[in-house]
Amino acid sequence: MSKREALNIESMETILNSNDECIRSIKDKTDQHFTETGHRKKVCIVTYGCQMNEHDSEKLNAMLVDMGYEVTKKFEDSDLIIFNTCCVRENAELKVYGNLGHIKKLKESKPDLILAVCGCMMQQPQIVEEIKKKYKYVDLVFGTHNLINFPTLLEETLAGHGQVVEVWESEGDVVEGLKSIRKKELKAYVNIMYGCDNFCTYCIVPYNRGRERSRKVEDIVGEVRILAENGTREVMLLGQNVNSYGKALEAPADFADLLIAINEIEGIERIRFMTSHPKDISQKLLETMAKADKVCEYLHLPVQAGSNSVLKRMNRRYTREQYMDIVDRARALMPDLGITTDIIMGFPGETDADFADTVDLVKRVGFDSAFTYLYSIRTGTPAAKFEDQVADEVKHERITELLKVLTPIVEARMRSFEGKNVEILVEDFSKKSKEILMGRTRNNLTVTFEGPPELIGKLVDVKITNPRQFSLHGAFVAVKK
Ligand code: SF4
Repeated sequence: MSKREALNIESMETILNSNDECIRSIKDKTDQHFTETGHRKKVCIVTYGCQMNEHDSEKLNAMLVDMGYEVTKKFEDSDLIIFNTCCVRENAELKVYGNLGHIKKLKESKPDLILAVCGCMMQQPQIVEEIKKKYKYVDLVFGTHNLINFPTLLEETLAGHGQVVEVWESEGDVVEGLKSIRKKELKAYVNIMYGCDNFCTYCIVPYNRGRERSRKVEDIVGEVRILAENGTREVMLLGQNVNSYGKALEAPADFADLLIAINEIEGIERIRFMTSHPKDISQKLLETMAKADKVCEYLHLPVQAGSNSVLKRMNRRYTREQYMDIVDRARALMPDLGITTDIIMGFPGETDADFADTVDLVKRVGFDSAFTYLYSIRTGTPAAKFEDQVADEVKHERITELLKVLTPIVEARMRSFEGKNVEILVEDFSKKSKEILMGRTRNNLTVTFEGPPELIGKLVDVKITNPRQFSLHGAFVAVKK
């Protein structure tokens, strides 16, 4: 892993310019391939983990389309396969290793296939060493901070002088000017900040994604304006901890100020954000959410545990009482607020009494849904060295018990919508049928209804007739906008 000098504006421009040259040069090669064979070179990008990773993949996608590649979902059809990895949980890592094994066989029958791995896993030196030793057939390895240099790295890889590895340890400054191809233009991800300074004791992200850096308000607003001009109606603002946005910016601005600025942009109808850290949620932010008409009444607020002693050992820096107070204040301002959360089961030292506190908090808050995870050791984090790791069997028992408590709460919440009209942004056909459309409410619940395709992209009212466990079904009422 190499350190990198901090990038200033000039060095960023140099990197972007030299990468532009590589994009042109690779495009010449893929065009030539097309002329000779009648087929475009194909790329398959597999993304693991969070929305930040998905958005990084969109940026890779945009660069590859400029290089003349066509996107495919099939490994067998690909000339280039990229695994954009996640290291937050052990499961995601195991899946990557499993897929690398699968591709080895494919490479034997297709020697020109290029295999690249990037993303958070690659920021860990021990993993890069393992790839170098045991997965010699991987052609290109690059880290999260090296995304801007991808065209240069790919050009080097295509030259075929052996495995190319570039992982910068330093995150440098925020780089502007990378475009991305979004999966759905109607809804777009927008990074507002990178990295995290919180060092929760179980989490590897601050070590992999680096220190917290916020983009300037004017750069974010500029990007959202362009998106709106191109048809985007909903933006999801992304950061590991959006509530601490703006702390180190020269021109002072906090997250609430940013929401107000984006709320003014014509064409944007809905603003969402994730992820919020409870310790940084201000009253100003809650009041702004309630006041700014385009900011949706939805909060993903990871609690992680309901026991104060576990929260302390997790270094979350809030108590269960403070968490519940935020929820009360938010609901007082926004009665329709949807709240979801993340919960880790079996953090080291979690006792039966600690678990009972988590169950109690879940009952008191009444979440719309909760993403529950089994704690898994992440090498390099403080919690990996904690004694009294909880046995897997106990973790499984607790997660089953928690889901038994959670399921009726979620079902009751869904039933509470029966007979009500909800506003949804129609996103697409449902997965099951072209006659059924789907969209989301402002508080982030999935709604399906029968309607013509012309409604896709519109804000419509739907009357809920059939609440289900994970979604609501209803009847079209009227177009709102
Ligand atoms: S806030 Fe905590 S859990 Fe979230 S990314 Fe930062 S360290 Fe990880």
